[in-house]
Amino acid sequence: MNLQALHQYLQGRTEPVCAYLYDLAHLRRHVQGLRRSLPDQCQLFYAIKANSDAPILQALLGHTDGFEVASLGEIERVRAVDGGMPIAFGGPGKTDAELEGALAHEVALIHVESEHQLRRLDWIARRHGRVADILLRVNPEHVPQQATLRMGGQATQFGIEEARIPDLIELARTLPGVRLRGFHIHAISNNLDAQAHLALLEHYFDLAEAWQQRHCLTIDWLNVGGGIGVNYADPSASFAWEGFCAGLSALIAARRPACRIVFECGRFLTADCGYYLTEVTDIKTARGRHFAILRGGSHHFRLPVSWQHDHPFVVLPRDVWPYPFARPAVHGATVTLCGELCTPKDILARDVPVERLRAGDCIAFLLAGAYGWHISHHDFLSHPHPERVFVDG
Ligand SMILES: *Cc1c(COP(=O)(O)O)cnc(C)c1O
Repeated sequence: MNLQALHQYLQGRTEPVCAYLYDLAHLRRHVQGLRRSLPDQCQLFYAIKANSDAPILQALLGHTDGFEVASLGEIERVRAVDGGMPIAFGGPGKTDAELEGALAHEVALIHVESEHQLRRLDWIARRHGRVADILLRVNPEHVPQQATLRMGGQATQFGIEEARIPDLIELARTLPGVRLRGFHIHAISNNLDAQAHLALLEHYFDLAEAWQQRHCLTIDWLNVGGGIGVNYADPSASFAWEGFCAGLSALIAARRPACRIVFECGRFLTADCGYYLTEVTDIKTARGRHFAILRGGSHHFRLPVSWQHDHPFVVLPRDVWPYPFARPAVHGATVTLCGELCTPKDILARDVPVERLRAGDCIAFLLAGAYGWHISHHDFLSHPHPERVFVDG
């Protein structure tokens, strides 16, 4: 979807614009390209919490190897679009009902996050006459990498600390309701450095190899998580996927891991297929600073507030001005883009430069396809929801 398509959407609209637009054709092309570059031994899963709308899942069905989910609700979302898509089920708080639901929905792999979860799953699976295929989720001792969010390499609620993995491997062997198929490590989020990500994977290979040798264990799966980043500060400088895949091929050739390597990416797959469009409804100045008020805000698009960043955007100028009085505007200035909520936290970009911005123009926030609508508090203040449009072709 190009700028022209966004302008087309705006044609003839009189109500203040507020919409999410998702480009499904772009999504398919993007993900096809990513998957094509991956070495043969690798699989690409989609972590659906980034965006779990049915049209998105549908578009990804033929182009990913499976979906990663973190609740029974997400399992049901996947099964509503496809009965057979492989599912990996993670999350630190799986209830008995969720574990039962996972078995009933034929989830392929359950990522076990604690000893208690392991024992409960075994107990439930045996009661149902089943054997659940599991990966142990590891919180590694060291993560050679800085990141915005860290789930591993420090004390967190996620996974099983590295030092306890040997005990849990041995415990799993004694439990007839589970079959240990490998390991899962998702330790960081939004990593932009391909070389650093390779170093991370090499470390994971080391860990998995050591456990296999020490416990005479054969594994089928090493799930290396998601966490491949999207550059919100400079959308033109994206993660060097091609170089990363070349490095990964070399790493696999050198280390010859005898299992499948699974990626479960969220953000990297769906961020750039989505746009959040909002109309500027007012512009004002306070103590020399300019503020643009938008029809929308963090109740639809919480990502910039959650990550404390200025979200990238483009201005879509519109010439229609229906009022018989002057149009509020700023020229060649910095402006703060504010939502319509009654809280000073409702800011999507702060003191960012614009050539010209007028009431009635629209702002298109880029990279809004992942962790946008789905992480937001839609009904705070009871404003109307944005229109949500899935464009195909
Ligand atoms: C959120 C999550 C992902 C996806 O993370 P991205 O940063 O969007 O790639 C993958 N695996 C697990 C376990 C997650 O919780």
